Amino acid sequence: MKLLTDYNLAELKELVAALGEKPFRAEQLYQAVNMGKDWEHITNLSGAFKAKLAEEYLPVGVTIVDKLTSKDGTVKYLFGLSDGNIVEGVVMKYRYGNTICISTQVGCRMNCAFCASGLDGLVRNLTPGEMLGEVIAANVDLGGNLKDRAITNIVLMGAGEPLDNYDNVAKFLRLVNAAEGLNISLRNISLSTCGLIPGVDRLIEDKLWVTLTFSLHAPFDEIRSSIMPVNKAYPIAQVIEAAKRYFEASGRRVIFEYTLIKGVNDSEACCKQLAKLTQGFPSHINVIVLNYVKERGLKGTAREQANDFVAKLNALGASATVRRTMGADIEGACGQLRRKYIGKNA
Ligand code: SAH
Repeated sequence: MKLLTDYNLAELKELVAALGEKPFRAEQLYQAVNMGKDWEHITNLSGAFKAKLAEEYLPVGVTIVDKLTSKDGTVKYLFGLSDGNIVEGVVMKYRYGNTICISTQVGCRMNCAFCASGLDGLVRNLTPGEMLGEVIAANVDLGGNLKDRAITNIVLMGAGEPLDNYDNVAKFLRLVNAAEGLNISLRNISLSTCGLIPGVDRLIEDKLWVTLTFSLHAPFDEIRSSIMPVNKAYPIAQVIEAAKRYFEASGRRVIFEYTLIKGVNDSEACCKQLAKLTQGFPSHINVIVLNYVKERGLKGTAREQANDFVAKLNALGASATVRRTMGADIEGACGQLRRKYIGKNA
């Protein structure tokens, strides 16, 4: 089955025309699909037309299988895909609006030493319409619609490496940005990458000006290679160069993620080198303390030491903050909810 959420309005118009229906039917269909409606809830199209479409297409590609709400308002979703796979998403509530963190792949090939998503390798890429489906499902669930959205910001920081699924991610960005759809500005979308440099250059070529976030996690190649296998292909110097290129092309400050792992990347030498690496162009360092992942065994740096690390970065002239933990009571660690659900972490 194909997903109607994979289609933009122009493509839906072609599809509708090929089926012998009037063009305005495409707009009706598009709105219904972007509101997460299943066939039975799409009431403005004829039964015959719906039946014809239903032979080949699904209007909803993502359903909410489970949902946990934290005391601080953070909502964690388990999304079901049409082939039975499951991915996670999280909605965080901020003063300026609600941000959804979505997955871009089922599993991940990158196998970072601290991350739950790569434990079983890559299962498959998500399609653009499935990524959009995560946003649609949460938007509707939280009472939003196309005009009055419950989701205003997106971060591609769930399971998966977005730039390892470039074409689908690029189409997703255009779909979710479409004025006639959810109309979420690229400025309000953060894309986080472990540093697949060719993908960064494709973003530049395609002028997709998101907030680009690099998972740096270590300022020395030896350490970074030991926790992020991708560093062997694209070492730190290349990551920094790519970050600079993206800034120069987009005018947008880049973000570096730095997850503090006890005894691995939290030394004074690391702090100094990190400040040095990120000097000379507008950037910000998001420091976060590692979430414990049982199967990985690594531990987070103590909170107080994390605060000192950031204070030292600031004293060295680097813009840096410790990211606040949200939804701690429901989250466990990144990626753990899905594993529990699929029975791998009972
Ligand atoms: N593949 C992308 C995006 C997914 S992960 C990337 O690498 O950026 C989003 C962020 O969470 C990344 O910075 C990642 O390194 C971090 N992360 C993964 N596992 C974590 C854990 N157990 N604790 C804290 N951060 C983690």
